[in-house]
Amino acid sequence: MIDWIIGALCALFIAGAAYWKRSLSLSGAVAAVIMGTVYYAAGNLFWFGILILFFVTSSIFSKLRGDRKAELERSYAKSGRRDAGQVFANGGLGMVACILNALWPNPAWAFFFIGSMAAVTADTWATEWGGLSKRPPRSVLNWRVVPPGTSGGISSLGSMAALIGAGIIGGAAWLLLGWTNAAQDFISITLWKWIIIGAVSGFAGAMADSLLGATVQKMYRCKQCGKVVEVGEHCGQATLPERGWSWMSNDAVNIISSAAAGFIAWGLGVILA
Ligand SMILES: [Zn+2]
Repeated sequence: MIDWIIGALCALFIAGAAYWKRSLSLSGAVAAVIMGTVYYAAGNLFWFGILILFFVTSSIFSKLRGDRKAELERSYAKSGRRDAGQVFANGGLGMVACILNALWPNPAWAFFFIGSMAAVTADTWATEWGGLSKRPPRSVLNWRVVPPGTSGGISSLGSMAALIGAGIIGGAAWLLLGWTNAAQDFISITLWKWIIIGAVSGFAGAMADSLLGATVQKMYRCKQCGKVVEVGEHCGQATLPERGWSWMSNDAVNIISSAAAGFIAWGLGVILA
């Protein structure tokens, strides 16, 4: 019981700060409190610490200002104030893994969790840092130069940020497992193996995200300015469907690519352990 109270208080403090700093909408803050509480109470500092690392770095980086950042935030769902759907799309799979691990303890859940969190971290870091890139991004499909903010466009700065962010999640897993004395099951996994697991799975997840974004993600066209955007409203008007599968929202793309990264990390964990 005391774990649930401590978890709720920590989550409330962090989500409250994020709401105050306008990184989360009200629904996003409520979702973050629920998620943080479960991560702490059903998990421990390993699960909670990884979530906080993702959450705090992403919130800070989303405040990085570039010339084009404001426009990117109007056209794409990934940046700016996050709502409950985005919060669950980023940390929901990890929460499921955390609960399943409490019910049926197995290292597989932790590997899956690290892969999924490495992917959402890589994707968010790539979006926030890539938005600052001076050079235009290239399409992940055909490597042609595309306008900044184009779905499926990747930049070297964004890709570098993705790799570093994902690797840091892997390194943090090693640190937190040692800290929480939960490392017995992972005894043969060194820091470098954890960094490789995080970097490879997270980077692959971010690439999967870009590929889905460039192909089947639901996109809309603004009636006013003609831009192709991720969101249902632009220039103060409802947007028109442009391409993609109707159910493949940005949140769905996030969940699918982080699940893929989770399975990659699980496989790598089994191989490297
Ligand atoms: Zn517009």
